[in-house]
Amino acid sequence: MHTTALVLFSGGQDSTTCLAHALAAYQRVETIAFDYRQRHSVELDARLNVLQEIRRQYPQWAHKLGEDHLLDLAVLGSVSETSLTRDVAFKMEASGLPNTFVPGRNLLFLTLAAALAYRRDLQVIVTGVCETDFSGYPDCRDDTMKAMQLALSLGMDKRFLIETPLMWIDKAATWRLAKSLGGKALVDLIIEHTHTCYLGDRTHRHAWGYGCGECPACELRARGYERFVQEDAQV
Ligand code: ZN
Repeated sequence: MHTTALVLFSGGQDSTTCLAHALAAYQRVETIAFDYRQRHSVELDARLNVLQEIRRQYPQWAHKLGEDHLLDLAVLGSVSETSLTRDVAFKMEASGLPNTFVPGRNLLFLTLAAALAYRRDLQVIVTGVCETDFSGYPDCRDDTMKAMQLALSLGMDKRFLIETPLMWIDKAATWRLAKSLGGKALVDLIIEHTHTCYLGDRTHRHAWGYGCGECPACELRARGYERFVQEDAQV
């Protein structure tokens, strides 16, 4: 029986939905994020605001929500050259992967998360990776997660469960999951306080939240929200 969890929490829509999932399912939940010198620190600010709002608006969750951990991963910025860490435009590479792909990033995140989970005695590692996403990052695939779960459990001699609530659902379903976990208030909280835009734009406010409205992350979030609202009106 699992009662404790560590959520990889970046302050975006997906990881906020994962955090709500963990708070609904487990008794003690901690959060972790990594600072690898992203082009903007907007996400890092967003995550603190989201945590604060969850504590304020959800007293039934607030007492379960424990420590937040921010790990410095500057080294990742020094080995990778991508549009998330360097000032280059987002595009698809010949490999079929977007140039936002940071090789091994998620493997490193999970390894560090497991090391922390070991120390903090947390059983479940929750991450918002998704195979239905446009990006097709190989380190977000279900097989990779299963392999990591096995490697980390063997390598640390401790049974970890890697949980991926968003693996097979699309962005509209992610909004729907948020609503089922925390009602309309959680949907509103995600719109207002989470951040997804690759460009770090917090000046343009749309029905689905803040962002440039044009980068692939904004487009995905906007399209998902539109479909969620349409489907939600029919039930
Ligand atoms: Zn954007």
